[in-house]
Amino acid sequence: MHGFKPLITVLLTIISIPVFSQSRSLYSFQDLSHLYYKKQKDSLAKAWTCPSVYKERSTQKKYKEIWDDRTSFFTGAIQGDNYIHDTEVYTYVDGIINQIVQANKQLIPVKPMLLIDRSASVNAYAIGNNIIAVNLGLIVFSKSREELSLAIAHEMSHNILTHPENAMKQRAEWLSSDEYQKSLNAVLDSKYERLSRLRKVLENYSFSRSKHQRYHESDADSLAILMLKKSNIAFQASFFLRLDSADNIYHQPLKHPVKNYFTAYNLPFDDSWTKKRTKGLSAKSYNFKDTSTLQDSLKTHPDCVERFNKTRSQSVAGVTPTPIPAQLQDKANKMIIWNMYSNMSLTPCLYRIFLEKDKGNTDEWYDFMISNIISGIYYSDRELRRFNAIGVVQKEYISKDYYELQTMLEQIPREQLEQYCKIFQNAGFWKSLPSGEKALKNLMFTLALDPDLSEKNKAKAAKEFTAGNANSMYYEFARIFEE
Ligand SMILES: [Zn+2]
Repeated sequence: MHGFKPLITVLLTIISIPVFSQSRSLYSFQDLSHLYYKKQKDSLAKAWTCPSVYKERSTQKKYKEIWDDRTSFFTGAIQGDNYIHDTEVYTYVDGIINQIVQANKQLIPVKPMLLIDRSASVNAYAIGNNIIAVNLGLIVFSKSREELSLAIAHEMSHNILTHPENAMKQRAEWLSSDEYQKSLNAVLDSKYERLSRLRKVLENYSFSRSKHQRYHESDADSLAILMLKKSNIAFQASFFLRLDSADNIYHQPLKHPVKNYFTAYNLPFDDSWTKKRTKGLSAKSYNFKDTSTLQDSLKTHPDCVERFNKTRSQSVAGVTPTPIPAQLQDKANKMIIWNMYSNMSLTPCLYRIFLEKDKGNTDEWYDFMISNIISGIYYSDRELRRFNAIGVVQKEYISKDYYELQTMLEQIPREQLEQYCKIFQNAGFWKSLPSGEKALKNLMFTLALDPDLSEKNKAKAAKEFTAGNANSMYYEFARIFEE
């Protein structure tokens, strides 16, 4: 039996190489949409001319306005790097689309264009013109390939049924209708109650829209289930219930007191930081709704229960769901965290990392990101923008732990933040991080700890980073300081 030992060691070494290299690189700067989709964006902006649908000139004019708004919204999102092309993530999601297209050729003559949206929110959306976008948040949240496929098939159905195009038409028709003009004129004519009258006009509008919306959802669900069946992808109505509880991640409590996540790095922690020192409504009297159970979400989103009830008879029984590769979800989660960091949404970013720590994840990349977040808050504090970086969220959207973390980041004294940065700069985890991360560490040192706060000094440090890391995903952050 002894003879096996070296062999096992060799095997472990071989196996650990891909895992090792995977945590090394996520994607490169060139994968951001303003670069990766530049050509498509330009040709699309040219190709998307508003079709002539209405004889009535005013309606056609409105329609063109709405149409062009959508085009510029979409090209603006590409330009603003809302999307990312990561081969691994893209290939996986595109594989699902391929499977659905192959099995439904008569319905889908042309394969849709897929975009991966960097957003954390659990969602996918149809843009119209045979384009769909899938959020990273949905990929991380989905429990199985089947569940993710339902969301994708649903969005594909919206496009097949031309719902985005119809919605634009309906809006154009309403905005140029006599009824709308009359009620708007009534508002403008009346000296009094202008606001309440205007509210009524808008309410009528959103009411008719939501009625249509529900209609659309139901149609898209039906077609999606049909297409999945043909594609041999098992449908379960219970997916609707899970998707419903999707946006409750910040309601999730932590496994340990907030303090522990800091003391783990030998950072000094004062319990008073987590307790709000302001007058008025104190946090003590507020009843936090931690742990979003299924029951809770049922109350808040009746729509999904309705969708569940409508479709439950079509569920395929006795199917073992196909798990989404854990390493793919881990990657997507890191991409979300980095995106949040680049957008300086630091508290949700940190909370997500703590939740990852709760799962027992010991990947040093997360330590690296906590260090970046602390440096980011301290840097913002020096620039007198600490509160922007924290991004305060109202109590009803978060757990008690999140609130404590947010309060702590608000109240921790500046000198302590500085000390945190220094401790992180000397932490042990840096040893096992690759050169790109280490290069960013140097830039963060300049931003957070260098007494020279001048733009020139920051630009110099940013250029030093860029010199050796022009392809790095972190360049997205560094380039802000280059000029
Ligand atoms: Zn929908």
